[in-house]
Amino acid sequence: MNGAGKRKINKGGSQMKVDLHSHTTASDGVQPPAENVRLAKQKGLQAIGITDHDTVAGIPEAIAEGKMIGIEVVPGIEISSAHEGVDIHVLGYYINYENKDFLDRLEKLRDVRDLRNQMMVERLQKLGIEITLEEVNARKPARKKGENIGRPHIAEVLMEKGIVDTMEEAFRQYLGREGKAYVNPPRIRPGEAIQIIRQAGGVPVLAHPGLYNLDEAVIDLIENHGLPGIEVYHPDHSEEDEERYRQIAERYQLIITAGSDFHGERNGDVFHAPIGTKTVDYDVVNRLKEWAKTSSG
Ligand code: AMP
Ligand code: ZN
Ligand code: FE
Ligand code: FE
Repeated sequence: MNGAGKRKINKGGSQMKVDLHSHTTASDGVQPPAENVRLAKQKGLQAIGITDHDTVAGIPEAIAEGKMIGIEVVPGIEISSAHEGVDIHVLGYYINYENKDFLDRLEKLRDVRDLRNQMMVERLQKLGIEITLEEVNARKPARKKGENIGRPHIAEVLMEKGIVDTMEEAFRQYLGREGKAYVNPPRIRPGEAIQIIRQAGGVPVLAHPGLYNLDEAVIDLIENHGLPGIEVYHPDHSEEDEERYRQIAERYQLIITAGSDFHGERNGDVFHAPIGTKTVDYDVVNRLKEWAKTSSG
């Protein structure tokens, strides 16, 4: 995982590392933003990205904690979109997270999210499972503006009721793409997610492309929608995935990012992986900042 260009050397003499993908209680992570930042500091990282689904609500707390304990926080987001029914996630870095238009736009995306939760609960009810939207929403009792609920919260209720034993089972049986309660209302297209991020002054980066099996669409986003970056290193990528996307990144001179996609621990399982398991050199942070300054908007 080498970045090109100037290198920052830390006291141990090795290259400083950053993890650019993590979730907090602002979306479907288990830990509050400050805790992700503390974990990153413990792991010896130089910077940590906070990239919650369709919200920037966790960023201020993370930045405040980072200042206090001395670690850089990269403000980010992970926007949910869909290409022919397949969920495509677009990361955005250095978005202007206080911009009114951007925040309004995110609120609309979260409305679709709420609608989808409701539709999934209705499907579960039709399957004879006693579950209500209130029970799902109660997983996040003091929900502040911007904080949202997703499928993992529905899964938690299914586990609590003993309907499934694990998160994996909840997704396999009910909530995942092949699951019996799966629904996906119309979402924005990935090209629109890229636009929203650019308009907010940020850098769009395609999240975990290896999870989609849609490489033609990936190339289309690069060639026709101005996608400048790609998450080559992710816990769910195989070595072949990494190699393939590294080559694509080289061919189009994209910014290569990495992230653990940390969500914390549910029922003993860490999804996707602990903070710091996938990292790139700190140079990537400089490239993201540079791109946001010169190319976005
Ligand atoms: P949503 O944002 O509501 O579409 O839910 C997607 C989220 O569900 C992902 O970002 C993961 O956090 C989580 N997820 C997806 N598949 C699984 C799985 N098999 N086990 C646990 N969590 C999962
Ligand atoms: Zn998630
Ligand atoms: Fe994702
Ligand atoms: Fe994620």
